Amino acid sequence: MSPFPSFLLLSSFLILSPVALSAETASVPPVAQERIPVKKSGHQLNVIYFLGSDTLPVPDYERRISELLIHLQQFYAKEMQRHGYGARSFGLTMKSPDRVNIIEYKAKQPASHYPYENGGGGRAAQELNEFFNKNPDKKKSTHTLIIMPTWNDEKNNANNPGGVPFYGMGRNCFALDYPAFDIKHLGQKTNEGRLLTKWYGGMAHELGHGLNLPHNHQTASEDKKYGTALMGAGNYTFGSTPTFLTGASCALLDACEVFSTSPSQKFYDGQTDVETKGIAISVTGNQILISGSYKSPQLVKALNIYVQDPPYAVNQDYDAVAFSTKLNKKNGKFNMRIDKNELSSLQNNEFRISLMFVLNNGRQVQRHFTFYKDKLQDYKDSGKS
Ligand code: ZN
Repeated sequence: MSPFPSFLLLSSFLILSPVALSAETASVPPVAQERIPVKKSGHQLNVIYFLGSDTLPVPDYERRISELLIHLQQFYAKEMQRHGYGARSFGLTMKSPDRVNIIEYKAKQPASHYPYENGGGGRAAQELNEFFNKNPDKKKSTHTLIIMPTWNDEKNNANNPGGVPFYGMGRNCFALDYPAFDIKHLGQKTNEGRLLTKWYGGMAHELGHGLNLPHNHQTASEDKKYGTALMGAGNYTFGSTPTFLTGASCALLDACEVFSTSPSQKFYDGQTDVETKGIAISVTGNQILISGSYKSPQLVKALNIYVQDPPYAVNQDYDAVAFSTKLNKKNGKFNMRIDKNELSSLQNNEFRISLMFVLNNGRQVQRHFTFYKDKLQDYKDSGKS
């Protein structure tokens, strides 16, 4: 992990193609240079480089993290575009076209005060809340990505990063930094390349949680066509094999504060009620039919449906096969048809169908229905909500 081999590589690369690439973008692999114009968002993700009081930043972090975030912003934008939402992504505040405005925050306590376990993430988030309260101009939205340098102790180091928080926690999410956390390793079949998929894929996935996304699984046909859902096991594939965002994930991002192009729109407050009526779920041959009507004081942007095996708790929901349909009304009817062949990843006798209404203010309203394959009965509600 010494900096010299990469420096040599960079030098020879520059000599081979001195015209095509500037020194600034020389480390970005061609795939990450294919950029589409991203629509300007009205709110931006806060990006914090969080240092314990006894910790120095990992060298060159501003360039490395900027390049990784810009590529990730592109990934989200391309997926949003593919699902018909336009080239929207999480907003970033920029220092220059190639540098993200990353806030370097020096914490009150040593790094050991903010470990992966025992509430380390919560303590860091609370300290950052106080920081934002004192510096409201620095807070660009309610979504924050917090990046900490790996610990260097008997267990963790540059070759085995860790020790620090690495998860989503409400609208905060945590990722980590280490010397080879650099987009030049993207897709490489090297130790650095595999390490990058793990930690960059991990950052892409945890950021998804911080942007309101639950876990979900690709359908059988998506698996063949697009690979692995980022919010399933995509944190292990991102950068190395095809990885994508499901329609259900993009429906939620469509109603996420930092994806909104309107600076004045308010998120996550206001009423969250959705009244449903006449929900009917029936299984006919190879089809699951789901229908009913809905009514809300808010615009209901979409209906996501998740079908999963037990258990249903958070972090046991990676198997939730996801479907989505756009509604874009305050009230109306919905009608979805799910081909059972799309659920081939589910094996249990018991399964659960969840309806998730995605509201314009970013809130989600869910209803759950449990079924047993060996004694399937149609569900029909009484007509009251
Ligand atoms: Zn996760």
